Amino acid sequence: MQFVDEVVIEVRAGAGGNGCVAFRREKFLPLGGPSGGDGGDGGDVVFHAHDRLTTLLDLHYRRRLRAEAGENGRGKDQYGAAGKDIVQQVPVGTQVYDDETGELIADLDEHDMKVVVARGGSGGWGNIHFATPYDRAPRRASEGKPGEQRRLRLELKLVADVGLVGFPNVGKSTLIASVSRAKPKIADYPFTTLTPNLGVASFPDGAGFVIADIPGIIEGAAEGAGLGLRFLRHAERSRVLLHVLAPDPDPERDLVSDYDKLMEELTSFSEELSSRPMMVAINKLDLPEAREDLDEVRAALAERGVETVHAFSAVTREGLDDMMKAMRYFLSRHPRGEAPPEPELPSAADRPHGDAKGFPEDPA
Ligand code: GDP
Ligand code: MG
Repeated sequence: MQFVDEVVIEVRAGAGGNGCVAFRREKFLPLGGPSGGDGGDGGDVVFHAHDRLTTLLDLHYRRRLRAEAGENGRGKDQYGAAGKDIVQQVPVGTQVYDDETGELIADLDEHDMKVVVARGGSGGWGNIHFATPYDRAPRRASEGKPGEQRRLRLELKLVADVGLVGFPNVGKSTLIASVSRAKPKIADYPFTTLTPNLGVASFPDGAGFVIADIPGIIEGAAEGAGLGLRFLRHAERSRVLLHVLAPDPDPERDLVSDYDKLMEELTSFSEELSSRPMMVAINKLDLPEAREDLDEVRAALAERGVETVHAFSAVTREGLDDMMKAMRYFLSRHPRGEAPPEPELPSAADRPHGDAKGFPEDPA
């Protein structure tokens, strides 16, 4: 299962400016030498891959990109200025297709990579270029060429930055919903309605990250059915994990033993996954049970090497912004690219618990 962000946009590069027909005006000479300058080249439409971005959100709101035209040439040997390029930042991993032919035009798979997706037209020649020994006063100039224009389809396979792990009902889905709604602009973004398991959190400066539920970890534990594990492929590849704890009405459970149990499960499933950078947070801070033993819980987790435990409420939003800011900082310390390759999934037979159904097919 994989989520794809997709947008169709129109790009148009700038036309080249026209060349100019002009002559020097000299005393006693009706026609001096030719002095018409060239037109400037039109600006290009350029995509620039940046690892700060995680979605094509910007382009969902801005579906047309136009670069500036070049200026026409002028008399007195003056060349027209080139049109400015338009440089659009896109997330690393964006693939650009010609929407009409389906041809892959560019694969921006590296930070800072730049690709011209529509080239500006070249400027026309002014008459200074057309003078010959036989024609010293040419009246010819050429026109600027039109800029390239095309419809592009951009595709981005979303890889979660943050994978959520935690017992059922700790509030993972609620958290995703509240951070995705944090900015009103996000509300009509196609993803948020696509699935409750995936959200895009964004900050006022345009930075954002993709947060995904890893459903079914410890699924069935409540029914005593054994601890089945189910992972979504995109979440397996998340750079960091957010381990969510919350008080549960079940008297057999408490936050610290939940923590231990989940870590045990993660380790038995995949050593690699359990050693992924992890932030720990306690949800449902609005409930008195969550507040009561907060210090003790923090101390017990500190003994297990968890230095910082954020506390928040996905419902009242208390502590939520602080946690998201901390998450942003945490992500900046674990940049993309450093993320490990996809872990090898144990086959159903090798796994300690669970069932084969739990593993989604690789769509590729
Ligand atoms: P998930 O199984 O981890 O995805 O948990 P859900 O997001 O489905 O939430 C399980 C239940 O906990 C739902 O009834 C939520 O309304 C509730 N819940 C989630 N977050 C909070 C919270 O911050 N405070 C309170 N009081 N309830 C919450
Ligand atoms: Mg859920």
